[in-house]
Amino acid sequence: MIIALPKKVGFIIDTLTQAGYEAYAVGGCIRDSMMGRIPKDWDITTSAKPPEVKAVFPKTINTGEKHGTVTVMVGREGFEVTTYRIDGEYEDSRHPKEVTFTPDLLEDLKRRDFTINAMAYNETAGLVDAFDGLKDLDRKVIRCVGDSRQRFEEDALRMMRAVRFAAELGFSIEESTQEAIRELSSDLENISAERIQAELVKILVSPHPERMRTLYELGITHVILPEFDAMMQTEQNHPHHMYSVGEHTVAALQQIADDKVLRLAMLFHDVAKPLCRTSGEDGFDHFYHHPKLGGRLAREIMRRLKFDNNTTDAVCRLVAGHDDNPLPEEKYVRRAMVRIGIEAYPAIFEIKKADILSQSWYKRSEKLQYLEEYRACYLRIIKAKQCLTLKELAVTGTDLIAIGIRPGPDLGKLLQELFGEVLEDPDKNTKPYLIEKAKTIYKQEFYGKGSIN
Ligand code: ATP
Ligand code: MG
Repeated sequence: MIIALPKKVGFIIDTLTQAGYEAYAVGGCIRDSMMGRIPKDWDITTSAKPPEVKAVFPKTINTGEKHGTVTVMVGREGFEVTTYRIDGEYEDSRHPKEVTFTPDLLEDLKRRDFTINAMAYNETAGLVDAFDGLKDLDRKVIRCVGDSRQRFEEDALRMMRAVRFAAELGFSIEESTQEAIRELSSDLENISAERIQAELVKILVSPHPERMRTLYELGITHVILPEFDAMMQTEQNHPHHMYSVGEHTVAALQQIADDKVLRLAMLFHDVAKPLCRTSGEDGFDHFYHHPKLGGRLAREIMRRLKFDNNTTDAVCRLVAGHDDNPLPEEKYVRRAMVRIGIEAYPAIFEIKKADILSQSWYKRSEKLQYLEEYRACYLRIIKAKQCLTLKELAVTGTDLIAIGIRPGPDLGKLLQELFGEVLEDPDKNTKPYLIEKAKTIYKQEFYGKGSIN
């Protein structure tokens, strides 16, 4: 078995070997190489302790020395070189609370999560595969190194990592590993929101976002995202639908590009449906106001999972706007764009399309045709560079002050009114018209408050 190591990785391994230590490329890079995938990064494991690694290379950075990790710089590229170690419990995404260094490669491989992640390689020893990782790669199976219960008890996040690797690689999770997850999923309560968020996002943007279903079946969402369980358990008795809210969501995730914001928006687009469900006199279920409430609920969830503000804002805007269906005429579409937020476009069309494609066949072609008309109208507005924000208005506050309007709340109100006019008819976005209009409105509505020229 020969793996073509990158030159710089070979150089680091050779240098450590010549200095009398052992060194191997290890973990994800070996797994990916064996699968014919291009590794994201190359990690190196060595018998040399951090000070010894630092002594051998001219340029190193202390990445996590007490956990054994030193970054070795080769040119401008950095490689994490970590001393063989035995881990205690994990406290964050990368670091166990306490580690013990060991001279034995096998001990280091034993602490790793899954058999496919526990292989090491160098040119002298070839592939070191003590836990049948290769066989599991071949069978496309995620299996713990050693006893799964014990491994999940050490670090509960590994349960999500199992689903994450299954989703990224298109693998199944070995039966006893699944069983252990079902038993121990509640331990995820003890894991930080940041670590959970990172794994959840990796699952969502993977080629198999439908693995959200696996998170549900194994009892993981019950702990990290109970709102998803509610979706899975909410039926939709309506001709537009053929799935439960949860299954519709899973289908929609598969219909949309593997972008973080799009997938998150898809995950949450109907999150408020379980709260909004009413059975109508027509014999069907209805979910009035679910987009608006969904935007709020998604914000709460994303805050809980410690998402950054930009991602949260972008996602919640899409959730709140996903079911807006303006008449496909410029006036109405402009208003919708301002209401939803122009930043949400053109993603809003991607969301709507994926949503339609995961509903029932009822009126599907009409819905898709409407969507194309909505999109075409949007494109006309963009192409014409029509005014969609106060900033693009042909008059500014300063212009209005110059004709004698006093600064203050009335000025803001006046600008908003002018903006409303222009939104209705973009031809009105000229300075002469708006100045005249401002004078008229000011005289009518704010009479007596100031003098204007
Ligand atoms: P990716 O391609 O996503 O980076 P990876 O396998 O490199 O996948 P990392 O999270 O970068 O995953 O971790 C590198 C290696 O460290 C893993 O292959 C695994 O051997 C080990 N590892 C990482 N996290 C854990 C953990 N929580 N428990 C046990 N071993 C872990
Ligand atoms: Mg990695």
